[in-house]
Amino acid sequence: MRKEVTRREMEKKIPFLSLKAIDAPIAEELAGAASRVIESGYYLHGPETKAFERELAEATGTSECVGVSNGLDALRLITRAAMETGRLHRGDGVLVAANTYIASILPLTEMGLQPILIEPDERTFGIDWHLALRRFEEKGKEEKIRGLVTTHLYGNPSWDEEVAAKLRDCGVFIIEDNAQAIGARSGEAGKMTGALGIAAAFSFYPTKNIGAIGDAGAVTTSDPEIASAVRALANYGSDRRYHNIYEGYNCRLDEIQAAILRVKLNRLSEITARRQHTADIYLEAITNPETALPCRLEGDTQVWHQFVVRTRDRDGFRAYLDSCGIGSDVHYAVPPHLQPCYAGRFTEPLPLTEALAESVVSLPIAGVSDEDARRVTEAINSWRTRR
Ligand SMILES: *Cc1c(COP(=O)(O)O)cnc(C)c1O
Repeated sequence: MRKEVTRREMEKKIPFLSLKAIDAPIAEELAGAASRVIESGYYLHGPETKAFERELAEATGTSECVGVSNGLDALRLITRAAMETGRLHRGDGVLVAANTYIASILPLTEMGLQPILIEPDERTFGIDWHLALRRFEEKGKEEKIRGLVTTHLYGNPSWDEEVAAKLRDCGVFIIEDNAQAIGARSGEAGKMTGALGIAAAFSFYPTKNIGAIGDAGAVTTSDPEIASAVRALANYGSDRRYHNIYEGYNCRLDEIQAAILRVKLNRLSEITARRQHTADIYLEAITNPETALPCRLEGDTQVWHQFVVRTRDRDGFRAYLDSCGIGSDVHYAVPPHLQPCYAGRFTEPLPLTEALAESVVSLPIAGVSDEDARRVTEAINSWRTRR
């Protein structure tokens, strides 16, 4: 027994996430990519960005891609482009999952749109498409519902083709927040997230499945009008040099980030497979009834940006994991409608969203070895059942 404790104490910690460890095996290649840019002297609007845009569009299955500064800007640019092209108007209602990360909602309120918060589907953690459709059918006219944002939260595709087709036929502009789901696929046809809606936002924040060495993002679309509006808006609103057709922004992707992202995009299937492998271990081996596991989605390919379990005593569970040397995190403890910036704004009850916010815990999923995954599993299975 004493010996067992000593061995445990000597075991290394399993951090929730170590970017240093994840990037270590490709550090040289990343440094080479950055050097190539410095040697070229092209820092913006150069060949790396162009190549990255082509490669991401190809990987996603869209005709166009615009590299941008970050994921939030990608969402802002799509929203502005929809307004500039007359697909959305100030005051329009936009359906969005209540439990999403706040970045999905910020551009809507910034631009005078009215987010209509819909409870999630507990299987996907994404918007409940049937509730969204019902809201549209019952109140679409009154609330001028002309848009929907679907977030593929935790790397789970959130898409219902039947409902999406109905909404599309009624002119609803569907935006994908694909910040967490690069490489995921939806449904029988296996269409990639990022190619499902009219336009999609990607984030390459360092902790995402594909991370830059700083901030970066992208917009994918097969709608040429949206693509050119996004491109212009991201560059001061200019469609050609010193010719400004919009009051735009500066949301450009830089060459060093593009070069780094090309290295990682080239490894996307490897990166995804590694996460799926760890998720499979967790799904098969975690058997503690106190922790509810995430669903495997029939017919969909999940990319496990987060592996999220639910438990009633979250604080106790996390403290226990910590005592076993295992890191964890919470995505997200406070939903957007309860954030101070939105105080008093959203008044409809959202009990499921709030229950999720109180019970979700994210386990280590990136850069986790099989041995680590087994240690995490054993620790969880011993929680409260160990005497
Ligand atoms: C990370 C993230 C964003 C924002 O991306 P940034 O690059 O950090 O601006 C938007 N939506 C979701 C769901 C995210 O996870």
